[in-house]
Amino acid sequence: MQKRMLGRTGLEVSIMGMGGIPIRRCSDEDGIALYQYAMDKGVNYFDAARGYKDCQTRLGPAVKGRREQAIIASKDGSRDAERMMEAIDESLRILDTDYIDIFKLHGVCQFDDLQQRTAPGGALDGLIKARDQGKIRFIGLSGHNADVLQQAVETDVFDVILVIFNYMNTAPAETLLDACEKHGVGVTVMKPLGGSVLTQHADLALRWVLQHEQVSTVCAGMWRQWEVDANVRVAEEFRQLDEDEMQVIEDQRQMRDKMFCRLCYRHHKCPNGIDVDSMMIADLCYTRFGLDAMMQGNWGEQVELTRQCASCDIADECRASCPHGVDIPRYLTHVHVTYMPVVEQYRGMHAG
Ligand code: SF4
Repeated sequence: MQKRMLGRTGLEVSIMGMGGIPIRRCSDEDGIALYQYAMDKGVNYFDAARGYKDCQTRLGPAVKGRREQAIIASKDGSRDAERMMEAIDESLRILDTDYIDIFKLHGVCQFDDLQQRTAPGGALDGLIKARDQGKIRFIGLSGHNADVLQQAVETDVFDVILVIFNYMNTAPAETLLDACEKHGVGVTVMKPLGGSVLTQHADLALRWVLQHEQVSTVCAGMWRQWEVDANVRVAEEFRQLDEDEMQVIEDQRQMRDKMFCRLCYRHHKCPNGIDVDSMMIADLCYTRFGLDAMMQGNWGEQVELTRQCASCDIADECRASCPHGVDIPRYLTHVHVTYMPVVEQYRGMHAG
């Protein structure tokens, strides 16, 4: 397995890492076994989170007795220092380890959120304190918005980022990757296959990400042994894409161009209460997390609100706000038509 340095951390990470979301689909036993199988195959970077159900509880037993072979990155969405420190203690307990290699602010996607979490007494202070106490080794943050991550990188506080990057979500390639290189920040990539959407020619899609030399590792989500085998093979045989392979990627990009939400956070804010960012990935979330998990938040209310998009007075303005030309009202109308019956049925079954 090829390895790369993770920015200024000095850690050498396998270029194929393992994401933490899909492992929820396994039983405990199978999840632990899959982590061990991946380690046996040379994967040494494991991205986890307190919010990824069952992920840490399976990773902990999997690395027992071989902790030094694994680089564990976890994260939490706490806003203030006290809660962040509690989250780290809980992760240490669940993982049954004395230290976590990298702990990150989870899901920092808006500038005001970054400001809140890095203000005095914010979650970043909790990370710094935990690092001073030896509970974590390095500090990072994750998010979908390349502009927000770049501002964070330029503070020189963060050692590692976790960012969406694939041949459709190319924003990090504009300036973020170079900024990370300049500031010695390690780049780890989430959703290299767009969250299981870019699975046609998956090997080429993964190599497209890895051919950016600032990227240290791709954290591909896996829950079946054949996925580990296929992804490890890509990493073991990694080479730059040739001209024909680049054309395949270009064809795929063209095919998806106007339908694929890049999660760029550069479109307008809906004045009618729709959280456009989360609704634009409704298909992805439904597939990955399942209805129960989605309905625990305000997903049902949001699906209801998308009723407005089919007859919205400012639909043209909404449509024009996407820098990638994705037809937001059309996609959100599809969300409404597809998921409203599902939401109503769920509510009917759980009424009273
Ligand atoms: S079409 Fe109208 S209601 Fe729908 S997201 Fe855009 S602005 Fe909001």
